[in-house]
Amino acid sequence: MRFEDLEIIEPILQAVREEGYTKPTAIQERAIPMVLAGEDVLGSAQTGTGKTAAFSIPIIQHLHLGKKGDQRQSKIQGLIVTPTRELAIQIGESLSTYGRHTRIRNTVIFGGVNQSKQIDALKKGVDILVATPGRLLDLMNQGFISLNDIRYFVLDEADRMLDMGFIHDIKKIIAKLPSRRQSLFFSATMPDNILDLSRKILNHPKKVEV
Ligand code: AMP
Repeated sequence: MRFEDLEIIEPILQAVREEGYTKPTAIQERAIPMVLAGEDVLGSAQTGTGKTAAFSIPIIQHLHLGKKGDQRQSKIQGLIVTPTRELAIQIGESLSTYGRHTRIRNTVIFGGVNQSKQIDALKKGVDILVATPGRLLDLMNQGFISLNDIRYFVLDEADRMLDMGFIHDIKKIIAKLPSRRQSLFFSATMPDNILDLSRKILNHPKKVEV
């Protein structure tokens, strides 16, 4: 299979070609069509499988196609929650790469650093936000972030998230999400507590295992 067979739009295909990717990985081949079709996805996949592109490409595509005119101050419509600063930065870089020929903007927020630059970036208008849980809740509580317009929600590395003690933060975040949304849930392992959490987030998910 080729990326061209996945109904990916030309501006994203162009970025993928520029990255030198010759063919989609297994999770990309399976998950991209599901996400483009609007399905919720429960994915069991490790880092290194190409899962970041598997969720990033269809979300960028949906938002790009839905974007009318020059909406500079658009509201946050995509939210990706991941456990660590390093993962958040990597996901932000991937979004910038795959979206480089679109007008979809992302920003990354994480704890342990001064929040003022992150707040400035949010004020400029962001389509997709990548966040670690604690800083996300902090900035929500201070009124800098609203989740009212989220249409695409990704919980990345859910098992690590729980191991790091983020379960209460995650529950607070999901309580603020609109109920009409598409959700994607990724975890390397699927023990019972992870499956319980996935049931609180996903609606009739398609399962992908790689
Ligand atoms: P991830 O599992 O999302 O952390 O991605 C692992 C690495 O694989 C990243 O460095 C990506 O740039 C790279 N990658 C993702 N998709 C592909 C692909 N289809 N072909 C070659 N490399 C890829």
